[in-house]
Amino acid sequence: MGLTGRIFNIQKFSINDGPGIRTTVFFKGCPLGCPWCANPESQNRYAYIADTMGDEAYSGRDYTVEEVMTQVRKDKPFYQQSGGGMTLSGGEVLQQMEFAIALCKAAHSEGIHVAAETTGYTAPGRFQVFLPFVDLLLFDFKHYDRIKHHESIGVYNDIILENLRQSVDAKVPVIARIPVIPEFNSNLSSARQMAQTLADIGIKEIHLLPFHQLGEKKYEQMGLDYAMKGVKQLYPEDLQEYQKVFLDYGLDCKFQ
Ligand code: SF4
Repeated sequence: MGLTGRIFNIQKFSINDGPGIRTTVFFKGCPLGCPWCANPESQNRYAYIADTMGDEAYSGRDYTVEEVMTQVRKDKPFYQQSGGGMTLSGGEVLQQMEFAIALCKAAHSEGIHVAAETTGYTAPGRFQVFLPFVDLLLFDFKHYDRIKHHESIGVYNDIILENLRQSVDAKVPVIARIPVIPEFNSNLSSARQMAQTLADIGIKEIHLLPFHQLGEKKYEQMGLDYAMKGVKQLYPEDLQEYQKVFLDYGLDCKFQ
């Protein structure tokens, strides 16, 4: 069968995963454990709990590059009209880096723009290898404070910040994406620290992702505990001052 990647969804007509109309390819497996994760099925590459459900939407399956590209190239006219393309997402794309690079090459050989959403949590040497293959990085940035990052997500943010710096130094276009989470990073003091950190690194564009509860049902279906049960959703109108902090730092900051 050759090179394969474990994918749990290929979503057509995505409009929130980079510019234009896109096809988003969701890679299974993530080294982080965000309590607010809306795709809990993405976290374990070998999701035994989900596998027992016999549902491909949860357990994913192994695809060849050509199988993915068969889906992706169907919408080429839409990409051309809208300035869109393919987005690799997850989970964490870089947990299956060889497959990700093969997909990037295949898309580029057909003139398709490639964006990759990443947690940035992978060895800096590996990250550098990946950088030349993408046209745009959607780089998750969750917290400026390494201890708080570790307490909530299970890993420190040092590697993530290092990879973010490397991306900017390598002149890869980067949009930093901040999930705004109640009692984690949603106060104005956090916003100021995050804006300062990102501005210092040289990031110019920020997307804010207000906390939502769209993943809650999946936890129930998978028989998993959901730490964010009952936590109030946030909306752009709740975060006008939060956004203003980033704008005041000269950053182009939008809601996603
Ligand atoms: S980084 Fe993304 S996919 Fe991974 S646990 Fe966090 S929210 Fe889920």
